[in-house]
Amino acid sequence: MHTDSADVVIVGSGMGGGTLAWGLARRGISVLVVERGDYLPREPANWSPEEVFSGRRYKPPDLWLNADGGEFRPGVHYVVGGNTKVYGASLPRLRERDFEQTVFPAGVSRAWPFRYADIEPYYSQAEALYRVHGATDDDPTQSWRSQPFTYPALPHEPYVQVVIDRLRKQGVHPSSTAMGVDLAPGGSCIRCATCDGFPCRLGAKSDAETCALGPALAGGNVRLLTNTRIDRIDTSDRNQVTRLVGECEGEPIQITGGSYVLAAGAANTAALMLRSFDDRWPKGVGNSNDLVGRNYMMHNNTHLAAIDPRRKNDVIFQKTFAVNDFYDDMGDGFPGGSIQLIGKVQGSMMKTHATRAPLSVLNRLARHSLELLVMTEDLPVPTNQVSVTPTGQIVVRWERTNYDRHELLLAKTHKLLRAVGYIGIFEQRFTIDMNSHMCGTAVGGADRDTSVVDGLGRSHEVANLFIADAAFFPSSGAQNPALTIAALSLRMAAENDWA
Ligand SMILES: Cc1cc2nc3c(=O)[nH]c(=O)nc-3n(C[C@H](O)[C@H](O)[C@H](O)COP(=O)(O)OP(=O)(O)OC[C@H]3O[C@@H](n4cnc5c(N)ncnc54)[C@H](O)[C@@H]3O)c2cc1C
Repeated sequence: MHTDSADVVIVGSGMGGGTLAWGLARRGISVLVVERGDYLPREPANWSPEEVFSGRRYKPPDLWLNADGGEFRPGVHYVVGGNTKVYGASLPRLRERDFEQTVFPAGVSRAWPFRYADIEPYYSQAEALYRVHGATDDDPTQSWRSQPFTYPALPHEPYVQVVIDRLRKQGVHPSSTAMGVDLAPGGSCIRCATCDGFPCRLGAKSDAETCALGPALAGGNVRLLTNTRIDRIDTSDRNQVTRLVGECEGEPIQITGGSYVLAAGAANTAALMLRSFDDRWPKGVGNSNDLVGRNYMMHNNTHLAAIDPRRKNDVIFQKTFAVNDFYDDMGDGFPGGSIQLIGKVQGSMMKTHATRAPLSVLNRLARHSLELLVMTEDLPVPTNQVSVTPTGQIVVRWERTNYDRHELLLAKTHKLLRAVGYIGIFEQRFTIDMNSHMCGTAVGGADRDTSVVDGLGRSHEVANLFIADAAFFPSSGAQNPALTIAALSLRMAAENDWA
């Protein structure tokens, strides 16, 4: 059996794990990152819609089960950098209110174990680390910030600017998307049409490998084991993790350390804890209160394609504005969410879902469409849950929550889009397999009866076990999650005693 060890062992090299490695390296701590996947190759296929979308080139063959036992292919990427290798690099902060309890007509979005002010300095650090370009003065709903953005907002292309001008006439405030790309002077970003959902062939996207793990590895305190999957966490009688067990390049491996951090992504982190059951932990390690895997969230999301047959959309880099006017209040006293442009969709990408439509028709539609994402908050409920079968396969029980808010924001978005000239609007509502924003399966909190880890990610029950990924989220807010995951990791790295 192979063996390895380090002061801190991190499972997973995505947004949570990669950023934590960077933060710990700065403190001079020796870190071993264990990643089940390999480096994602830079190759022509990176920018092929057919390879990336229809061919699922960078997705694993994993099949997960829904509540009825039906199989689905999850939106996960097992590569160095995790899901950030293909993400859209939209990196907004959650709002101050998102860290407090919010009551919706359909239920409660729970408070975080700390306030916005406690994480704010780490948001600034994360924005600098991930080269976030943004503006401080165009979004009236933005929370206060101690630092301006290091980089200016991305300029809007002429087609997008016309939409913004028309939206302003409708009384809303389109604001710059906070984007993590390398557009500083001398930067490598060319603002191409293959950013959102594609790997970057130029290394210009601010993913966790490029911005955090790579620099951490170069510094000397951090090592990375690729193609190494952790299958089990073993503990001693004294409620300490003693080793991780798994497979490296097909051979068994055991890894020991002082502290062990799970950053395998919300579903895999919970699954790893649940698979690690024994006589002392019959419900899985660190799971006496049976909360591991519960409170699974993934946002209520819908993609829209809005068609104006009279205007050709010749944009290349489309994702430059969002409308947050309805974030805190949809006019009825309750929060709504965010309306965002997404990367320009090509006909062949539409074909992944509109399988029966001829490509020529989809291409014609794509030349006249503007694509958006409407995002609202889903709620943490214990019955939305990740579990594992006796053979270890992941099961996701998921029903939509708080969906009336989503319907309302969709209706408002339709109205706005029609008012600015779009006469046809197609919707694609996210289904269980579109779980790219999943979170909440091992929530952070002060109360050990209602949470799995404390406010700094340490297990309430196993002193040297931590969680540093989206599993920590007590509630999801309605902004893209990655910057918050990074800020959480930086806070964990700085404020925990890792001795
Ligand atoms: C197409 C797409 C677009 C997105 N766009 C955006 C966006 O614009 N903005 C935004 O904020 N968010 C976006 N997201 C979501 C964002 O990427 C995720 O929220 C974020 O990456 C999650 O971070 P994480 O650390 O929780 O998990 P991940 O980044 O998924 O990392 C988990 C890592 O753990 C590894 N791993 C899993 N199991 C094991 C194991 N047993 N042993 C060893 N290693 C393991 C995985 O291989 C992976 O590398 C997008 C996601 C997708 C898929």
